[in-house]
Amino acid sequence: MIKRNEWEKSRDWAWHLIKQINFPVKEEEIDSIEIADLGLSEFNTTGLHALSLFDTAWVGAKLLILSPNQFFPEHKHPESKKEKYPGKTEVIRGLWGELYLVVPGSVTPHPKANPPSHRKKFIDVWHEIKIQPGDQYIIKPNTWHWFQAGCSGAIFWSISSKLTDAADKFKDPQVVRKTMILDN
Ligand code: ZN
Repeated sequence: MIKRNEWEKSRDWAWHLIKQINFPVKEEEIDSIEIADLGLSEFNTTGLHALSLFDTAWVGAKLLILSPNQFFPEHKHPESKKEKYPGKTEVIRGLWGELYLVVPGSVTPHPKANPPSHRKKFIDVWHEIKIQPGDQYIIKPNTWHWFQAGCSGAIFWSISSKLTDAADKFKDPQVVRKTMILDN
């Protein structure tokens, strides 16, 4: 749940940053910005801003915008046997700022990412990859991952095969894929 004025402030902040880094956008695309608080009502620390650029039956592209140190919980994009879809392959590519992407693998001894302490119990993977502008990493389908921005925030691409947002699985049982806006 997020108050409407906070929702607007967050959307405007993300829009301003996108323009500030000279990413070319059309004015009306501000309406394509999604604020995902994952039902946790802790948007300052957990969630993300997404500018959805396109989403077809085959491919999707979003810009993901994280405020300073904002955290996005561990999740994966599972296969759909019914649709004979192996799950979303997601390419993360840094555009601005610094992102810590965390995936399965050897545990990083001194990770830079530091998720909110009450959310740490829902994290199982600790192999940290630093994503700076121009760095990219391909996340295979059905692979657990989470991420957190560095201290200035981050903007990065999420380019993928067909989106399956509603089917995404999260480790944290409190997460819902829905942001409720509270009129104040
Ligand atoms: Zn993902």
